[in-house]
Amino acid sequence: MNQLSFSGKVALVTGAAAGIGEITAKHFAQRGATVIVSDIDAAGEAVAQSIIDAGGEAVFKQCDVSSTESVDALFDFITSKYGKLDAAFNNAGVDIEDSKLADGNIDTYNKIMDVNVKGVWLCMQKEIQLMLQSGGGAIVNTASIAGLGAAPTMSIYSASKHAVIGLTKSAAIEYAKKSIRVNAVCPAVIDTDMYRRALQGDPKKELAISRLHPVGRVGHPEEVAAAVLYLCSSDASFSTGVALPVDGGSTAI
Ligand code: NAD
Repeated sequence: MNQLSFSGKVALVTGAAAGIGEITAKHFAQRGATVIVSDIDAAGEAVAQSIIDAGGEAVFKQCDVSSTESVDALFDFITSKYGKLDAAFNNAGVDIEDSKLADGNIDTYNKIMDVNVKGVWLCMQKEIQLMLQSGGGAIVNTASIAGLGAAPTMSIYSASKHAVIGLTKSAAIEYAKKSIRVNAVCPAVIDTDMYRRALQGDPKKELAISRLHPVGRVGHPEEVAAAVLYLCSSDASFSTGVALPVDGGSTAI
């Protein structure tokens, strides 16, 4: 990764207790940001502590992004403690579907939409309000290549990630003249707990999934973190409304 500096910046990462969010929070901290590590899972406390142990600045704030009260409390904390937010990575998400559309159920629909869409929307509202008051900032949302095309047996998840891209592009245009940039990353399969759960320890499935990517492997969370930090940095000052594939060539086929 290059030497982008976030010294003096405040960065929020949701879904930061594990996977892509955890690694991105650590990369922000390594480059000088004060990081608000947020997750519904209290395991985020250990992520914040490991950042502090490594000499960085971090605080853990537990938050269920699908709850208005919980998001309000998170942003009350950020506003009173820091008074600004330079970068926000709306990454918390769930992926709990494995059925064709006609076999799906309403509980699964509600869970995925509540976290992946409502959660991003609630956080974006608060982030934009704070950024408008404090001179701007950069927001990156985690979509997916499932937000750019079909995802058989994951149609609800796919719809949720298409929605994330819709929120991203619309907000990017709405706030383009207000020094707020809004972009999305669209990972293909990334080696995290979410992926390991889907594999269920099946080596044949692992090989088949690797081969779906033109580069012949799945991605690493570090490769998504690098894209997020770039999009949040001043190097990306002319990029807004982008849905950036981080996908080993998957969407080029
Ligand atoms: P992960 O399961 O390893 O981590 C997700 C984190 O989100 C967990 O720490 C979890 O506790 C948290 N979370 C879940 N619900 C939450 C809620 N309501 N409020 C706050 N936090 C909550 O998954 P990951 O692979 O790191 O996924 C991160 C994001 O990347 C998700 O949005 C996912 O849809 C997306 N994504 C993942 C992949 C992949 O292959 N891993 C591919 C494309 C997109």
